[in-house]
Amino acid sequence: MATQSLTLQPSGSKMPLLGFGTWKVPKDSAADIVYKAIASGYRHVDCACDYGNEVQVGQGIKKAIADGLVTREELFVTSKEHVAPAFNRTLSDLGLDYIDLYLIHFPISLKYVPFEERYPPEWANNEQDPVPVHETWAEMEKLVQSGKTKNIGVSNFPAILLMDLLSYAKVKPAVLHIEAHPYLNNSALIKQVIVIPVLLPEGKNMQLGTYAQSQGLQVTGYSNFGPASYVELGSAAAQSAVPLFKEDRLTKIAAQHKKTVAQVILRWLVQNKISVIPKSLNPVRISQNADIFNFDLSAQEMETIDGMNIPLRLNDPGVYANIPIYA
Ligand code: NAD
Repeated sequence: MATQSLTLQPSGSKMPLLGFGTWKVPKDSAADIVYKAIASGYRHVDCACDYGNEVQVGQGIKKAIADGLVTREELFVTSKEHVAPAFNRTLSDLGLDYIDLYLIHFPISLKYVPFEERYPPEWANNEQDPVPVHETWAEMEKLVQSGKTKNIGVSNFPAILLMDLLSYAKVKPAVLHIEAHPYLNNSALIKQVIVIPVLLPEGKNMQLGTYAQSQGLQVTGYSNFGPASYVELGSAAAQSAVPLFKEDRLTKIAAQHKKTVAQVILRWLVQNKISVIPKSLNPVRISQNADIFNFDLSAQEMETIDGMNIPLRLNDPGVYANIPIYA
C-alpha cells in the first residue's frame, strides 16, 4: 500500500497520514494487534507511557522488523509524557534506539510519581505540580539535540498556548495532536484556508488547526470516531450523541462510495492533510481503516461533513479531572 505522508519541519521527517492508535489496547493482545496493524500497511504507531502498554507495543514492532515486514526507518513512532526520565523509560519499554515524535501530552503538569511507586503514573489524584511550559519545552529540545527523538510536538494545546510556545521555541513544535472528528472539527483545521487573519472571508474564524498549519506544524487528529471511544468510559456526552457510524449523512455518503462510515471519516480528515490514528482490536476493521487512499470525497461531501460540527469535545480534562484547560 502506498503510504502518503506529511513533511515535518524542521527535521524534514515524513509522518504517514495513516497511523495506528494504541490507547486502551490491552496489554495481553497489544503485541499481536500492533504486528497485525503493521502487516495491514500501517507505518505510524501512536503510543504513550500513559497507555500502559509500551512494552507490548514495542514487542509487536520488534517482531514486525525481525520478520522483515518493515524496517525501523520505515516506521514512524510517536510517544508522549514527562521529559527525560519518562522519555528514557519509553525508549527502553518500546525497545527502540530512537523515536520519531515525542509530544507534551497535555499542557498540564501532574505531580511526578516515582516509577517504583506507580508506572504509568496515571491521573489517579490529578494532583498538579505546576511547571511552566517553557521549562518543559527546553527539556524536549534537549531530546532532539541528543538524537533520541527526531521531532517534538504538543498535544491538546489551545492556540493561545501554542502562540506563546512559538514565541520562544528554539526547536519549533513539528506536530499538534488534537481531538478531531465530525462532531468536533475545529472547522478551519479541516479547511486549508490561506491564513492572512485580516483577509479571512467574512464569518470565518481562524481556528486552531489552521493556525497550527499556518505556523508550519502538521496536525494529527485523534479519536476520529468521536463518541465510540468514550461510550465505554461512561461519558454521558458520548452516550447521548448519535453514534457517527449510524449518522444519516455519513451512512449515505458511505453507501455512495461503497465504503464504511469509518473509512469516510478517515478519508475526510486525510483529504484535508490531517493525519489519522484510528484504534481497533478487530483485524478486519484494522485493515479496512487503512484502506482509505483509493477514493475521493467530493467538495460537496466534504462540506456536508464539515457541517456536522456541534462542537462536541469528548476528551476534556475539565470534565474528568477538574482541570479546565479549555475554559
Ligand atoms: P478511535 O476514534 O480510534 O475509536 C476507537 C473505537 O472505534 C473503538 O471502540 C473501536 O472498536 C471502534 N472502531 C474502530 N474502527 C472501527 C470501524 N471500522 N467500525 C466500527 N467501529 C470501529 O478512538 P481513540 O482510541 O480514542 O483514538 C485513537 C488513538 O488516538 C488512541 O488509540 C491514541 O493512540 C490516540 N489518542 C491521543 C490522545 C491525546 O491526548 N494525544 C487522546 C486520545 C487518543
